[in-house]
Amino acid sequence: MTDNTNDGGNVRIDDPRDFPPQEDGFQRLWTPQRMSYVLRGSKGGREAKKPEHKECPFCAGPKKSDEDGLIAWRGTYVFAIMNLYPYNCGHLMVCPYRHVSFLTDLDDDELFEFEKASTLAMTVMRTVSHPDGYNLGINQGEVAGAGVATHLHQHIVPRWNGDSNFMPIIAQTRTMPILLHEQREAYAAAFEGLAPSFGLPLAAKEREEDKD
Ligand SMILES: [Zn+2]
Repeated sequence: MTDNTNDGGNVRIDDPRDFPPQEDGFQRLWTPQRMSYVLRGSKGGREAKKPEHKECPFCAGPKKSDEDGLIAWRGTYVFAIMNLYPYNCGHLMVCPYRHVSFLTDLDDDELFEFEKASTLAMTVMRTVSHPDGYNLGINQGEVAGAGVATHLHQHIVPRWNGDSNFMPIIAQTRTMPILLHEQREAYAAAFEGLAPSFGLPLAAKEREEDKD
């Protein structure tokens, strides 16, 4: 039963169904049963999954030789590593040595070198392969798309006009005109040449030799 009366300019609503909210163009499929699935992986979830113990690739990489670990440059707090599954040719990642998840976990020295090294990496790309643009980004947390959510890494992806062709769309395949190891070598040489002008250390290998 409704009884909407004009009461001194105020409309009294007895039944909200008489005044439906403004439509926003979306239909709703109500699925309350999915909440248990959504909460399953979160801390509050009753069925929270324990993470599998697997060595973190960004902790393992710097323990190897530059060649085996695909390391292009080693700084004091961060390093640059080739992406084994590149979004585009020459895709680098800058990571702190410390196994932390979020940008907010870095201290001031790490944060400074992390960003400085990202600009160095862009300059290395510009020198080696003259891209027309760059994608830089950090996915933080699995929900945000981080492949290795437990170890912070900044993607630095060079882009060229016309680099996106039909292959990724119709064939789930990206075309890569240079091999990872060759690309790493070219980058490593450029990092070495450019790092001092950024106020950053040379590659760790060089610094080891300096100590001798
Ligand atoms: Zn790690």
